[in-house]
Amino acid sequence: MSIRVEDISYIYGKGSPFEKTALSHVDLTINKGEFIGVIGHTGSGKSTLIQHLNGLIHPTSGKVTIDGIDLAAKTKDAVSKRHSAGMVFQYPEHQLFEETVAQDIAFGPKNLGCDEEEVDKRVKSAMRFAGIDYEKFAGRSPFRLSGGQQRRVAIAGVIAMHPDFLILDEPSAGLDPIGRREIFSRIWDWYNKGVFSVILVSHNMDDIARLATRLLVMHKGKLVLDGDPMDIFLNHREELKECGVDAPPLTQTLQALKARGIPVPEDAKTTKE
Ligand code: ADP
Repeated sequence: MSIRVEDISYIYGKGSPFEKTALSHVDLTINKGEFIGVIGHTGSGKSTLIQHLNGLIHPTSGKVTIDGIDLAAKTKDAVSKRHSAGMVFQYPEHQLFEETVAQDIAFGPKNLGCDEEEVDKRVKSAMRFAGIDYEKFAGRSPFRLSGGQQRRVAIAGVIAMHPDFLILDEPSAGLDPIGRREIFSRIWDWYNKGVFSVILVSHNMDDIARLATRLLVMHKGKLVLDGDPMDIFLNHREELKECGVDAPPLTQTLQALKARGIPVPEDAKTTKE
């Protein structure tokens, strides 16, 4: 299973005086099993790119396919493929709207056409995944929860759609360090169990260094680097700087390497910082 981004460009307000090219000839393949970090300066095209991956917007030129099916097509197959990439927007808790936590999480699977029994099963398992106790929270108003809990409910709503690819835009923004750790350890656990692949947009290089198996660096609408995060953080520091991205301090990168059990290159400690 894979997402193919085939030479896409995207122009906001095409033909208007405010025309803005947000993506320019981006080409990549995302395979099942990857944990992809997407970084780049503000305005580099990260959000525009990820919105293409579940067909929320369609390219001005080029195409995006999942398993060969064009997400811009007006067919049942295309709709179902679009659902296989679940999007968690920034501050997803702003989109909570139902009276109870369980109803909110049930909204997506209901829309997918799942029967009552299946909806119930999905709500329970998504809540378990998200670490929200069903007995205690299912009947509560989502608006009475803490910020971190609300965020987890919102993410559970996407999980309940059973996506193959989970796309997250700054999922820890605005959370305290504990809330942040909680969110990422859960996402990592699910990823590790092979529940879904992850595409994570983040400004937090520490999170990216610890989690991502592949890194995409966006600059002025172009995909300028695509590769192993550790290789990019160790050996492409100047290019990152030119893209307006600060690579994590070398010591941090080396720690992340070690934590993953990857051998630290001999010369890394002395030659680059
Ligand atoms: P990032 O997520 O990296 O901050 P975006 O994808 O949001 O970047 O934006 C890429 C470019 O497209 C920026 O120049 C931005 O100003 C522009 N842009 C984003 N959204 C819109 C929009 N709705 N209308 C017009 N221009 C937009």
